[in-house]
Amino acid sequence: MIRDQETLNILLDTVSRFVRERLVPNESRVAETDHIPDEIVAEMRELGLFGLSIPEEHGGMGLTMEEEVLATFEIGHTSPTFRSLFATNNGIGGQGIVIDGTPEQKAHWLPKLVTGEVIGSFALTEPDSGSDAASLRTSAIRDGEHYVLNGTKRYITNAPEAGVFTVMARTDPAKKGADGISAFIVERGTPGLSLGPPDEKMGHKGSHTCDVIFEDCRVPAANLIGGREGVGFKTAMKVLDKGRINIAAISVGVAERMLADALRYACERKQFGKPIAEFQLIQAMLADSKAEIYAARSMVVDAARRRDEGRDVGTEAACAKMFASEMCGRVADRAVQIFGGAGYLAEYGIERFYRDVRLFRIFEGTTQIQQLVIARNMIRGFNG
Ligand SMILES: Cc1cc2nc3c(=O)[nH]c(=O)nc-3n(C[C@H](O)[C@H](O)[C@H](O)COP(=O)(O)OP(=O)(O)OC[C@H]3O[C@@H](n4cnc5c(N)ncnc54)[C@H](O)[C@@H]3O)c2cc1C
Repeated sequence: MIRDQETLNILLDTVSRFVRERLVPNESRVAETDHIPDEIVAEMRELGLFGLSIPEEHGGMGLTMEEEVLATFEIGHTSPTFRSLFATNNGIGGQGIVIDGTPEQKAHWLPKLVTGEVIGSFALTEPDSGSDAASLRTSAIRDGEHYVLNGTKRYITNAPEAGVFTVMARTDPAKKGADGISAFIVERGTPGLSLGPPDEKMGHKGSHTCDVIFEDCRVPAANLIGGREGVGFKTAMKVLDKGRINIAAISVGVAERMLADALRYACERKQFGKPIAEFQLIQAMLADSKAEIYAARSMVVDAARRRDEGRDVGTEAACAKMFASEMCGRVADRAVQIFGGAGYLAEYGIERFYRDVRLFRIFEGTTQIQQLVIARNMIRGFNG
């Protein structure tokens, strides 16, 4: 749903200019230094990028899902590292509070997430619980007006920068599955919360993940999201349904960027006396990429519109995430091929995108998990 086309166009133009003029020229610097320069973070904050999808009543832009994916397509035209920094506030790190938080939790945290003054992280994955998230073991045992958390969370995006964590933990150890899980807001600096060293990753340099460790970490009972035990897994799944549409959108945006770079290279690079773009085998790679991006873009916009209509988008979000992230991997591979030897060299940047986009097929649910979600929903639908 687009609320006001003119206002949206202004936002999309502003984001597009910021990406072109400020982010693209800094891509290799961020990758080399593993750090987003402070002045760029300050500009992101000024533009309101940390609060794109946080409701207006808490100071955010309150974008609808359709508006948000259109903005994400633009943001995808540069290194996805930049988005990683503000994406958790809009997405997995902030949406637990937006969707299921109490009025007090929203009033306290959302204005801080909107400005980027606080970075939010989402801590679901554990060393022994990845795809099988409902098997998580981090415990949260009630003790008077507190819960005492113990356990380790793994690969948590923005944990080194985070001021607040949405943590899924088991409040009822007798219940082994999803029903025993609750969601908590845990503030950085809470005694008993510590961080592991930053992970060494294949890509996304400049965006950081690490372990988050809880050792007798006492969290006020008022920080139980929504004030209810046993619904934390549902909260996490609602957050991920939205997150998956966003990962699909960023996959489309980055694929568009890689294809634009590959097209430019193909038109400029000459072999056998003519631009390689004139060879039909190169044209096939360009055309297949164009068609697949168009298909993924259409899926993302459709899934976003359905979510805006209040419909259950579990299947559509999984379809869009699976198709768009796999598509993005194929486009990255073709782009490297079109660049030839240059595609393999750091100087041209395309190998960095190739490494960066590999993650899209893994996090917020692997491709295999999306397949399981889609098929499970189909079979449930058939059986009524
Ligand atoms: C850079 C990065 C950032 C991340 N950020 C976050 C974050 O902010 N918060 C967070 O909570 N998590 C985060 N994650 C974790 C991520 O969501 C998990 O890595 C992902 O869900 C997969 O879990 P796993 O790594 O344990 O793999 P596993 O679950 O061990 O899977 C290994 C392989 O087995 C396959 N597999 C597993 N089960 C099945 C099945 N039933 N059928 C078929 N195949 C199956 C998987 O598809 C995969 O190919 C991040 C991960 C990375 C790498």
